[in-house]
Amino acid sequence: MEGFIKFFGTGGARFVALKQLRATGGLWLNYRKTNLYIDPGPGAIVRIRSAKEDYDPSRLDGIVITHRHMDHANDINILIEAMADGGFRKRGTLFCPADALSGDPVVFNFASSYLENVVVLQEGGEYTLGDMTFRTPVRHRHPVETYGLFFHLNTTIGLISDTRFFPELADHYRADHLIINVLRQKPIENHEIVEHLALNDARAIIEKVRPETAILTHFGMHIINQGPARLARAMAKETGVNVIAGRDGMKWEF
Ligand SMILES: [Zn+2]
Repeated sequence: MEGFIKFFGTGGARFVALKQLRATGGLWLNYRKTNLYIDPGPGAIVRIRSAKEDYDPSRLDGIVITHRHMDHANDINILIEAMADGGFRKRGTLFCPADALSGDPVVFNFASSYLENVVVLQEGGEYTLGDMTFRTPVRHRHPVETYGLFFHLNTTIGLISDTRFFPELADHYRADHLIINVLRQKPIENHEIVEHLALNDARAIIEKVRPETAILTHFGMHIINQGPARLARAMAKETGVNVIAGRDGMKWEF
């Protein structure tokens, strides 16, 4: 094992976040000596600090926000402060889309001043952080500027963040292991939720990519009510791919 992903949350979207039906704290990615936090949604700092194992944010090398929505970025300022030892040590790199920093910024100026680097994500961008290399292959179709992540480690790991389905999506994420944010079962017309992947979209991507592992996460209310584990088992059977449902606190090693 050279790395792991710790799920500090597998819930997504407004009502799951407001009711905390699942945690919404984002993901901790470790690879060799490098630690990167992804999408610190509401409760990230609480979930990190209440984990049984010791996850110390002052050991983080960087934080990524895939987009500025609250369920992905609510705890960004406090996590930057924790990464920078309370702001006493300029530390770490923030990766985020430009609109997280401008207009009505989700990253405050005081928090930015604690960082060593701020890197603005762009379509087709490639980034290095310590032992990690990752790309943002394509701009997602979502109401705000949004990117998924494609990691080149001892294996390849794709993370498809929030997006409306589009046919080229699978081609951008031909990874050995795929993490997919899947919000609901079927899209409803004329509803904000169509800006996310539904379960049938995730299945179409999995069938095309055929990864070794597919992890579904970022569940909305509808999927939580249906039982994510049961839905994942059914999809595994249908596709012949090892599809698993993320669980809060799950640690997946690679
Ligand atoms: Zn979103």
